[in-house]
Amino acid sequence: MRRIIAGNWKMNGAPGTVTAYAEALRAAPEAAALIVCPPFPLLPGFAAALAGSPVGLGAQDCHASAAGAHTGDVSAVLLKEIGASHVILGHSERRADHGESNAVVNGKVSAALAASLIPIVCVGETEAQRDSGEAEDVVRTQLTHSLPAGFAGIVAYEPIWAIGTGKTPSEADVAAMHGAIRAALVTQFPASGAAITILYGGSVKPSNAASLLGLPDVGGALVGGASLNAADFLAIAAAAPND
Ligand code: PEP
Repeated sequence: MRRIIAGNWKMNGAPGTVTAYAEALRAAPEAAALIVCPPFPLLPGFAAALAGSPVGLGAQDCHASAAGAHTGDVSAVLLKEIGASHVILGHSERRADHGESNAVVNGKVSAALAASLIPIVCVGETEAQRDSGEAEDVVRTQLTHSLPAGFAGIVAYEPIWAIGTGKTPSEADVAAMHGAIRAALVTQFPASGAAITILYGGSVKPSNAASLLGLPDVGGALVGGASLNAADFLAIAAAAPND
């Protein structure tokens, strides 16, 4: 399995950093598939700088409509036109900062699929939900309501308490959650659920990448902070097994 390593730059980066970063990614190991997801204004620069390379280009959000009176929003159709291949949807920071419900995420996923973008749909529990034993139920509910019929994309399990904190779940907990997600996907999508890639996200760095990426049903990583540094991002990709 070729692991997918996606970098979420969040609201970081600047035009002057794009060319050197994109050039560095050309040295990516073939064993992993890389995707870089910068802020909207950097997408055209990245599309030009990555031209001819196998590295994917992702946005961090899109609107559920193809066009219209939605000030400040960006459509999946436009993202596709300017060269994006992927879009992160339902990230916990958007669910928290912008009140995005599962229903809102579901509409955005449908729009992404209609525009031929590959959605990377994030799910994950809070620390309180994990402590109270609800983590798997919370994630199953997010999957049920965030993924539309005919879903064809990527799921990212991102425990909210592990994002940007340096904390990661135990390997046993990651494996158990990925197994639970796999089972839920097979139930929800009997024909395709077994093949949907499930990424792990939350404080992935070069030093823990090999062990996390080697766990059952972990098809890659969604990387925040460590993706801002090309060398670290490449080191994470290099740690990915190709089995
Ligand atoms: C993320 O924001 O998707 C993420 C996983 O962040 P970090 O790697 O910084 O925890």
